[in-house]
Amino acid sequence: MAGIKRKYGLLCTGLLLFLVFLSAFGMQAKGADKEGRILFISSYSYSWKTVQRQISGVEDRVGSSTVVDYEFMDTKRINDEVSSQQFYEGLAYRLSKVEPYDAVILGDDPALLFALQYKEELFDGIPLIFEGVNDTELAAKAAEDPMITGIIEKLSIENNIELGLKLYPSAKKVAVILDNSITGMAVKREYYRYAREYPELKFTDINASELTLNKLRQKISMVGKDTILIYVLMTENASGKQYSEKEAIQFIMNNAKVPVFSMLEGGIGDGFIGGNVASMYKSGEIAADIALNVINGEKVSNMGVMESPNIYCIDQLVVKKFGLTMPDVPENSDVVNYQPPFLERNKEVIIPAGILVFSMLAVVFWAMYDNLKRRKLMEELEEARKIMESASLHDFLTGLGNRSKFMEDIENLVNTGTPCSIMMLDIDHFKHINDTYGHTAGDEALKQLAERLKGMQTPILTPYRFAGDEFIIILKSSQDKIKEKSAFQCYQLFDEPFMLAGEKRKVGGSIGIASYPMDAGSVEQLIICADDAMYQVKKSGRNNFAFYKADGEKKQRE
Ligand code: GH3
Ligand code: MG
Repeated sequence: MAGIKRKYGLLCTGLLLFLVFLSAFGMQAKGADKEGRILFISSYSYSWKTVQRQISGVEDRVGSSTVVDYEFMDTKRINDEVSSQQFYEGLAYRLSKVEPYDAVILGDDPALLFALQYKEELFDGIPLIFEGVNDTELAAKAAEDPMITGIIEKLSIENNIELGLKLYPSAKKVAVILDNSITGMAVKREYYRYAREYPELKFTDINASELTLNKLRQKISMVGKDTILIYVLMTENASGKQYSEKEAIQFIMNNAKVPVFSMLEGGIGDGFIGGNVASMYKSGEIAADIALNVINGEKVSNMGVMESPNIYCIDQLVVKKFGLTMPDVPENSDVVNYQPPFLERNKEVIIPAGILVFSMLAVVFWAMYDNLKRRKLMEELEEARKIMESASLHDFLTGLGNRSKFMEDIENLVNTGTPCSIMMLDIDHFKHINDTYGHTAGDEALKQLAERLKGMQTPILTPYRFAGDEFIIILKSSQDKIKEKSAFQCYQLFDEPFMLAGEKRKVGGSIGIASYPMDAGSVEQLIICADDAMYQVKKSGRNNFAFYKADGEKKQRE
């Protein structure tokens, strides 16, 4: 037993160690890169937004173990032999002073051209990765070298014309703003190749390098609503003015009367309507990934040349400004100055307000429901109370008012000094009925007499069941005539035979009558007097009625 336990313990420890080793190894593998050194040579200066985006893409991919150094050729400002030579000399000097690089990223066409020119002197044995290169032929030729690969900046002229046509279906012309820079010329060649595919559109260009400031201004402002105007780049004019990207965008925005489409990210958010743009950020990411793979031992010769990932980037505010309808664009598109629909725009207010209104409504409805429930309950309680009250004042068997009800009513009359009479009625030989026909038949007799008494009821005459086979009647009068008439009526109740156990039987009753205030001054006394009169009837042969007489001579029916 102990042996098995020890074996288990060893196995578990082994498994734990294995897991720890695996996770440590896994983490290192994920942390990825071996220490490495990358040199990024940009054709332009850091002030160009496209350059900043390329660098952001690179920086976001490389880990802390990789060093990235940056060199800027600044060819958009100065692009001559002297500048190129000086950049070469400077770079050669710096490279001789620092540790060798594992990979070099070349941003845009001039950097690739430079690297090809000085490959042996500066980059011998170092893998070169270009990005943002517009000259596809140059890129293809460069990539024949097993140490060179990269990403072509594929400016989609077609996608931008299509986007323009979506917004301006009746467009008749396309015009591109570009210059004589390497990139400009490369795009121009590509652009005119598309003219054949759109025979209904007239293809023109505004070449800033060949136009004086005034002419350039005039040309841009003259572009009419029938033209899809696309900006490619503008680094100079024929008057000798050199434009930074910011200045170029500002100049175009100041002069163009129509929306300006763009194939690059620059200018979108600063007034351009947008376009299908080559994502410089994503190109930077891809270039960095290739460089990291190289550092990790992969061969550049195994990697083919790629195209930059293009996305749609549209400024919704500009679309609105020109009174256009937002075009349908794919999911991964960037919408700058997004104009959310009313609901989304006001959701900070609408959602809490909605919740508040809903909660308030819920409370109101709950209160209403509760109130209704409570009212119903109160009604039910009231009904139950009435039933209870009625039950407490009525005789269960006959439905007549009971002794309590009688006492309540007679006390009311006596207390208010209302003259009245009571008639005490007792069934004769009722015991005999019970004994002969059974208790149920006795009950039946009681019920039948009660029904007959109910038939006598008037506003001044009310019958009650007093006790056992005794009934009592209140007559709101003490007048002799009325008393006599009522007593006789009462007596006549026994004329008709009763149905006892299915047989008609004659039943008799003795009635004693007393009046307030003539015979008695209190309820108790009045009952005693009526009882006394009734007793006299019993004594003198039953089935008759008698009025109370104080001297003991009870007045009986003759
Ligand atoms: P008397 O002529 O002197 O009145 O004789 P009686 O037989 O009617 O005698 P009494 O009035 O004293 O007796 C009443 C009887 O009624 C006594 C009791 O057994 C019977 N009784 C009382 N309440 C009920 C009832 O609810 N149902 C039935 N079936 N019998 C009852
Ligand atoms: Mg009786």
